[in-house]
Amino acid sequence: MRIHLDQIREPGFPVDEVLPPPAVNAALEADGAESVFHAAGEGHLKGMLRRVDAGVLVDARLTVPVEAECGRCLQTVRLELDVPFTLTLRPRPKVAAPAQGVDPVKAERAVEKAERHQDSETAGSFTLDDADEDVFEGKTIDLDPIYREQLLLALPMNALCEESCQGLCSRCGQNLNDAKCGCDVREVDPRLAALKNVKLN
Ligand SMILES: [Zn+2]
Ligand SMILES: [Zn+2]
Repeated sequence: MRIHLDQIREPGFPVDEVLPPPAVNAALEADGAESVFHAAGEGHLKGMLRRVDAGVLVDARLTVPVEAECGRCLQTVRLELDVPFTLTLRPRPKVAAPAQGVDPVKAERAVEKAERHQDSETAGSFTLDDADEDVFEGKTIDLDPIYREQLLLALPMNALCEESCQGLCSRCGQNLNDAKCGCDVREVDPRLAALKNVKLN
């Protein structure tokens, strides 16, 4: 979803987007890894884009229902992610195109120098607010990578139905959250089990 800067006028550009499940699933796997979570319905991105001195302020809320299998008991876990976020988007500083007749190597060096200068300017000035900043290229703002990042940040590390989930009995498969099964589950560490079979001379 791309918004041209010219579309953002007073009092702001309202965003009200439905995120269909395939788009949510693509976002969940945006970093290339297979996600244990998948869309459990359509998501929504609602908010407002405003011009501010520094660039564009995104004030939005992402809501997405997701599902996964509990990592211990395999029951379906459903989460209603609700992520309000505020982000300042700054235009990426323009790098002047080398003028005709300028030695490209020299131009390249000049650019590198300019970039180093920028780095040294920003180094050491990190504040908490900087964490909620991003840059955009040219004259358009692409909200897709922005909501993808927010989505990935909001996902828990593990999919668990409950932090205290007891999981399944390793012998009979009984869901131990529902009932105890009475199996003898004094677990033998597989590495120790292998040792037991080692014949000692
Ligand atoms: Zn569970
Ligand atoms: Zn059992």
